[in-house]
Amino acid sequence: MRCDVIVLGAGMVGVSAALALQARGRSVVLIDRRPAAEETSYGNAGLIQREGVVPYGFPRQWSKIVRAALNLNPQSNLHWRALPWLAPFLYRYWRYGTPERIEATARAAKPLVERSIAEHEILLEAAGMMHAVRRTGYLKVYRSETGFAEELALDEQARRQWGIRSQATTASEIQALEPHLTGPFAGGILMPQPWSVEDPSVVGKAYAELFQRRGGAFVTADAATLQETADGWQVQRVEAPVTAPAVVIALGSWSNALLRRLGVRLPLFVKRGYHMHYRVLGNATLSRPVIDGENGYVLAAMTRGIRLTTGVEFARLDASPTPVQLGKVEPFARALFPLGDRADDKAWIGFRPCLPDMLPAIGEVPGRRGLWLDTAHHHLGFTLGPVSGRLLAEMMTGAEPFTDPAPYRVARFD
Ligand SMILES: Cc1cc2nc3c(=O)[nH]c(=O)nc-3n(C[C@H](O)[C@H](O)[C@H](O)COP(=O)(O)OP(=O)(O)OC[C@H]3O[C@@H](n4cnc5c(N)ncnc54)[C@H](O)[C@@H]3O)c2cc1C
Repeated sequence: MRCDVIVLGAGMVGVSAALALQARGRSVVLIDRRPAAEETSYGNAGLIQREGVVPYGFPRQWSKIVRAALNLNPQSNLHWRALPWLAPFLYRYWRYGTPERIEATARAAKPLVERSIAEHEILLEAAGMMHAVRRTGYLKVYRSETGFAEELALDEQARRQWGIRSQATTASEIQALEPHLTGPFAGGILMPQPWSVEDPSVVGKAYAELFQRRGGAFVTADAATLQETADGWQVQRVEAPVTAPAVVIALGSWSNALLRRLGVRLPLFVKRGYHMHYRVLGNATLSRPVIDGENGYVLAAMTRGIRLTTGVEFARLDASPTPVQLGKVEPFARALFPLGDRADDKAWIGFRPCLPDMLPAIGEVPGRRGLWLDTAHHHLGFTLGPVSGRLLAEMMTGAEPFTDPAPYRVARFD
């Protein structure tokens, strides 16, 4: 089986890359070991974060670092036994947490983030998925005056510097927007720009079907069998190998295992996260995702019920799941919204693929002809999949890139 480009990984990032290359006339074979959008692109909060310019930086105040290290905040959980392995990554992540570096990341992220909805909209329309979209933004709520005041200051800065639209809301405005939330509230922030979907995996699968309807091949194979050949790249399959002059690694958190074998170094680490669905008591509903600003979880109405997604867990990719954060935030969530029984047998786990500067890696590996990366979309892979695919395809086909790709180059950590 021969094609122009092999795309490895059929999460939101890989499927979007395959569609963008196909739209620019390339024959593409998309490869995954599982059906499309069944890993991290399956269980996220479903937000297309048009406001997500400023990255989640490593905390700089010692009091916050100590609380996080001791696992006292429900927002984060650290596997202490993984620390020897994690320490070099966390150190680099911490170094990127200065105000200057956060600003540099935000500046670099902005062109991608501001095109995120427009690029999704093209695919949502073509895939017949516009019905699954809510354009109601999201709401961040605060119980304490201190928490709310801190958020207001950050929000004001983001608004001034990055042109992000937001609206401070009073307790009564929160109740008017979401009547089934339980106060008291110090206040909230309504982010009107983001879109959200009722099932991110269904959207990913619809994009993969669109790719196939347009003539693309989606085959099952193990990306670990990728080999460089005299004239390109080859992936083994029982039926027949797939060969192409170019390959895109879009394996999310699994990118590194393959890259290491190919001799490419990328400081990729994972921020794990969990979700659980809940039944709803009575006729309660949510018309937009709600973030508990103080406890770092999201509640969103999904097809399976109310999905609670947790903050971050610093651990090895392959360590057994430890969904302790769910237990910690569940009482806060129950006090906020009338959640009924858990609707899943066990917590789902996902893996946010992260680089220390919280920017993705999009581009060709220097000195490795035909080896391309589209990975490390951290907290924003659902948001940035389509726009990253567009940029990658423009670079791969020699078109004028819509933005300068330099901030996302693969070798920026060398
Ligand atoms: C709790 C949580 C909430 C989140 N909420 C949001 C949100 O609201 N909005 C947002 O934008 N982002 C969100 N994210 C982040 C987002 O989900 C990820 O950034 C995104 O899913 C990454 O997509 P991906 O395609 O790179 O990786 P994945 O979706 O993980 O896909 C990687 C693919 O590679 C395949 N693969 C791996 N190894 C092999 C192999 N050896 N052979 C073949 N195939 C292989 C896998 O099967 C998988 O299909 C959230 C993440 C979490 C954990």
